[in-house]
Formats: sequence, C-alpha cells, structure tokens
Amino acid sequence: MTAVADETPRARTLALEVPDWPGHRAGQHVDIRLTAEDGYRAERAYSLASAPGEPPAITVERLEDGEVSPYLVDVVREGDVFEVRGPVGGYFVWGPESGGPLLLVAGGSGVVPLRSMLRHRRLSGSDVPARLVYSSRTLEDVIYRDELAVSEPGLEVVVTLTRDRPAGWTGRTGRVGAELLAEVAWPAADAPLAFVCGPTSFVEAVAAGLVELGYDPARVKTERFGATGGR
Ligand SMILES: Cc1cc2nc3c(=O)[nH]c(=O)nc-3n(C[C@H](O)[C@H](O)[C@H](O)COP(=O)(O)OP(=O)(O)OC[C@H]3O[C@@H](n4cnc5c(N)ncnc54)[C@H](O)[C@@H]3O)c2cc1C
Repeated sequence: MTAVADETPRARTLALEVPDWPGHRAGQHVDIRLTAEDGYRAERAYSLASAPGEPPAITVERLEDGEVSPYLVDVVREGDVFEVRGPVGGYFVWGPESGGPLLLVAGGSGVVPLRSMLRHRRLSGSDVPARLVYSSRTLEDVIYRDELAVSEPGLEVVVTLTRDRPAGWTGRTGRVGAELLAEVAWPAADAPLAFVCGPTSFVEAVAAGLVELGYDPARVKTERFGATGGR
C-alpha cells in the first residue's frame, strides 16, 4: 500500500501497489485478505476507485461495529503489506463501448465503483451522457466531494442527503424513491444503461423503482455491498 488519503471523516482511499497488476475495468473489485498474528483471517471485497490505466486504489468507509473496515480506515499505514486478489468481476463493469445514456445510482460507499466509471468516461474522452444520483447520509459523508463538484460536459451529479440539511444546502434531501427517480432518471425510451450500487436494501429498492419506470431489467446492473444499510 503506497499512500492514503482521507475522503471524509469516515472514509479513506488507499493506493495499492500490486506486483504484476494486470489492469482493471471500471466497476471491478478486489478481495482484501488480512491475516492476524495468530493466523486468524478476514477477507472483504472493495471496489476499485481508480480508472482503468491508473494504479489500483480502493476507498473504504468505516462501519463502527465492523471487523475489517475500521482497520483499513484507521490503522493501516503507508508501506503496510496485505493480500490483494483481483481484479474480480465481469458483469458490473462499464466502458465507453458499453454506451448509454448512463445512469449511476449510489448509496453511501456504493459511489466507489461508479467513480471509477466516471473517471474512465472522462479520461477516455467518452461523450456518453451520464447522470450520477448519489444518496449520502450527510454532506460530510459525501465521498469525492471536490471531484464531483467539477463540472464536466455531459455529466450531471445529483446529491441527496438523507439525514441532514446543512445551512445553505440548496440540493436535495430524502431517500432515492420513486419520485426522485421519475424526475432525474433518463426516460426508459432512451434505453438507458443503469448501474446501482450500495447497501443491499438501497440497491433493491432503486432497481425495482427503475424497472417500474420501464427500464429493461437486463440494463439495470446492481452491486450489493451487504447488510440492510440505512441510507
Ligand atoms: C463487491 C463488493 C464491493 C464492495 N466495495 C466496497 C467499497 O468500495 N467500499 C466500502 O467501504 N465497502 C465496500 N464493500 C463492503 C465491504 O466488503 C465490507 O462489507 C464492509 O467494509 C464491512 O466490513 P467490516 O468487516 O468492517 O464489517 P463486518 O464485520 O463484516 O460487519 C459489521 C456489521 O455491519 C453490517 N454491514 C456489513 N456491510 C455493511 C454495509 N455495506 N452497510 C451497512 N452495514 C453493513 C454487518 O451486517 C454487521 O452488522 C463491498 C462489498 C462487496 C460485496
């Protein structure tokens, strides 16, 4: 691991140095395996945050009662060594050749693989129209906040805060429900390609909402990070 960067008070990006890294596609993940001195092992999946062509990096958000994430966010230091397996996954991936229009819907740390897709879109010079709908508990919890604030041709970013409305916030609040989707999702007639990522309950609710709007289920790709969440 070569460098760490704080993204929010609860999330940190770790740049990985993996010998013989074969390169990755936007949306793929790695499995990180930690081994304690007594031989106890824990393994978790983390999406790649960087674009294809960039060195691999992951962004981990701390779950207070979690086993692995507090260690990766609070304890690991530059130069620490751990096992990385990957890149993994061939379904939840996007490249310019996949087309669009692209609808990316994230709950919490579910923004990580979608950020890789957006960086890939930008760095490859793709003009596929894209929208990111990002549900975060609070403004402080918005990962990649500065990067997402930079305007890019053909990209719209909609952030909705589910647990606070800070002074001066003119953006949206509340969960990503049928109403918000009906307003911000591309019309089904445009044959959009959707990627939905986050806690399991979030992903299931959003995917069902998109299908209700007429989205082709085969073009609504989902990645569940686990648990029921609470976004
Ligand atoms: C394909 C894939 C990609 C992933 N990518 C990322 C990523 O980019 N960044 C990231 O931070 N995490 C990501 N995750 C989640 C990650 O793998 C771990 O599940 C997460 O870090 C919690 O691990 P832990 O050991 O800290 O918690 P655990 O000890 O496993 O769980 C602690 C408690 O938190 C609950 N919990 C577990 N996961 C979640 C969750 N997602 N939301 C709310 N509660 C939960 C558990 O039910 C349990 O009660 C990904 C998961 C998958 C399957």
